[in-house]
Amino acid sequence: MTPADLARYDREHVWHAFTQMQDYEPLLIERGAGSWLVDVDGKRYLDGSASMWCNVHGHRHPRLDAALAAQAAKVAHTTNLGLSNPTTVEFARRLVEIAPRGLEKVFFSGDGSSAIETALKMAFQFWRQAEPAEEHRTRFIAIGEAYHGDTLGAIGVGGVDRFTAMFAPLTFQALRLPSPGGPCPASGRPAPSLDESLAALDRLLVAHAGTVAALIMEPLVQAAAGIYVHPAGFLSGVRDLTRRHGVLLILDEVATGFGRTGTMFACEHEQVVPDFLCLAKGLTAGYLPMAATLTTEQVWNAFLGSHAERRTFFHGHTYGGNPLAAAVGIASLDVFRDEGVLQSLSPKIARLRQHVDRLARLDHVGAVRQCGLMAGLDLVADRAAGTAYPWEEKRGTRACLAARRHGALLRQLGDVVVIMPPLSISLDEIDLLAAATEAGIRAATEA
Ligand SMILES: *Cc1c(COP(=O)(O)O)cnc(C)c1O
Repeated sequence: MTPADLARYDREHVWHAFTQMQDYEPLLIERGAGSWLVDVDGKRYLDGSASMWCNVHGHRHPRLDAALAAQAAKVAHTTNLGLSNPTTVEFARRLVEIAPRGLEKVFFSGDGSSAIETALKMAFQFWRQAEPAEEHRTRFIAIGEAYHGDTLGAIGVGGVDRFTAMFAPLTFQALRLPSPGGPCPASGRPAPSLDESLAALDRLLVAHAGTVAALIMEPLVQAAAGIYVHPAGFLSGVRDLTRRHGVLLILDEVATGFGRTGTMFACEHEQVVPDFLCLAKGLTAGYLPMAATLTTEQVWNAFLGSHAERRTFFHGHTYGGNPLAAAVGIASLDVFRDEGVLQSLSPKIARLRQHVDRLARLDHVGAVRQCGLMAGLDLVADRAAGTAYPWEEKRGTRACLAARRHGALLRQLGDVVVIMPPLSISLDEIDLLAAATEAGIRAATEA
């Protein structure tokens, strides 16, 4: 097929995620290297969304490519249902080594949503099998505007209404704690303070004493909400309260894990150890679909018993623990160690902050938020009054499409323009990315 044939077929037959196909303008990426992607016509773009927040060390990293090829020369896939392979075992060990202490058990699945489903079901089943059992602990607490994936369980604890409201009749009802991050113009309300949030959580836990299985949250920053950054102390406050009320804590580090916030895991910023840690996106440095749910010996032990006791976790995904993905995951952790990736981040984070502060002065940029190498810029109709654009005008989408013409691929969240490059991006490339972002925002807001 010629590029034109490909584009036509793409538009007419390939149903894209989170995309109105009636408006879809095909862009076909054929190759990549480092922070750059190249389309079928040879045009180059900076990967300003890290290929949907998952690329870590850039595209075509030689060590990752080599690890993938070496594993393919052994076996591409077996199964982890009652069977194993050396690469996956090795990867599990490496994850336990870098995870917060106490998270020693690793359940592999295929994507972030599945890692969340796994944690929710494990937490639920844990209480039925705990000693003593607490069968009334069937509910979950979730944060307002949370995003935990798109499967039905994950949207049950999700709170981005524009994604999930339609499916409410199909999902369970989580208890809600308003987010102390944000706010963005779409929600209008100011965010509660740290003290108000923790007091509200305490009240919620008292009101629902003995019926909550777990609280689930994205630590430090709610990415898909619009890069909502929590006040310092929220995460550790939540950990203290959940522990005091005997509620399990599930941390969704699908977006924040693997260096995105400046440390390997976001929960390290507040020395928090959850009962479940959900990982995906950066787990394989953005190469292959894979996810992991890490948990404690306490949870693991509640599932042990004879066959007749029916304590088994009857849940799994065909490609869970896939050795190709595991091989790349191991190589990615090697790169983190050998190339000093975490140590290299602070000048990059500082450079991004300079640009974000500068872009914050544009006429149609309202609030800006940054956490590590992730930033969100609110586009607003009137800065002084903080008035949002009518959502139908799709200003965020228009800004990102315009940025393409200036050589950067960005992805918006409504009217929030998100900058989330691979961790391997250079300082010069951050400058280019910021310039393209500015050009895109100006094109979409000054016309
Ligand atoms: C992307 C994301 C998910 C869902 O992961 P998928 O691999 O898309 O299923 C869950 N939680 C958070 C915080 C995410 O950013």
